[in-house]
Amino acid sequence: MPIGKKLVVVIPAYNEEEMLPVTIPAMSEVLDRMVSAGKISSSSKLLFVDDGSTDKTWPLIEQYRQINAFVSGISFSKNYGHQNALLAGLKVSKDADVVITIDADLQDDINAMEEMLDRYLEGYDVVYGVRNSRETDTFFKRNSALFFYKLMDKMGTKTIQNHADFRLMSRRSVDALLEYPERNVFLRGIVPQVGFKSINVYYARNERQSGTSKYPLGKMIKFALDGITSFSTTPLRMIVWLG
Ligand code: UDP
Ligand code: MG
Repeated sequence: MPIGKKLVVVIPAYNEEEMLPVTIPAMSEVLDRMVSAGKISSSSKLLFVDDGSTDKTWPLIEQYRQINAFVSGISFSKNYGHQNALLAGLKVSKDADVVITIDADLQDDINAMEEMLDRYLEGYDVVYGVRNSRETDTFFKRNSALFFYKLMDKMGTKTIQNHADFRLMSRRSVDALLEYPERNVFLRGIVPQVGFKSINVYYARNERQSGTSKYPLGKMIKFALDGITSFSTTPLRMIVWLG
């Protein structure tokens, strides 16, 4: 019997061929450390979800799988988007005791994963990674994010401020989330509704080390609209009122 809880780290990856050779060794080191400390089982995994990449992302994942026992992956036939990639990763991680979702570009602090796990071992079901500044974002990204969060809040979608999709979830909170009937996935709006004991872990968000943001303006607007329309009846009421 392996010692410790089985952790699965779900990592969506869309055209991340430049990042993976950096990300995989770095994340493996964090997992190794936690295995040595007896906090997680040696059967723990880095689960990459290739979101229909057109570069060498998937061949790279397969290559690493041969030489690194932590690495596993699934691959989409086309690009379904970050949120769907995360959801698929959660669905596939059936044997995980605990799941962490994190971006592939190392913008989230991978060292915060250990602190998240410590909170989980203390009894928290959901641990939100919360960035303590937005300095590394462009002026545009910072202000558009602020605008969308304000708008969502006004329309009744409750979210954790400065938290994106870097979070830990226990088995039972993932199961509860997967019961949630929602087609336009906006996880950061759904998770707080699922309930369970939660806590924040703070970290400084880094700049993307290589490659470019996979979230151009169009995708961001669609994302924000999904966030608003799936949780709020305000747009519906506006339509009725206009009618
Ligand atoms: N991503 C994805 N599908 C997409 C766009 C992005 O799986 O259609 C992944 C991407 O590889 C990264 C994470 O989602 O791991 C966040 O994307 P990105 O870093 O480009 O977003 P930003 O940090 O600029 O908001
Ligand atoms: Mg990024």
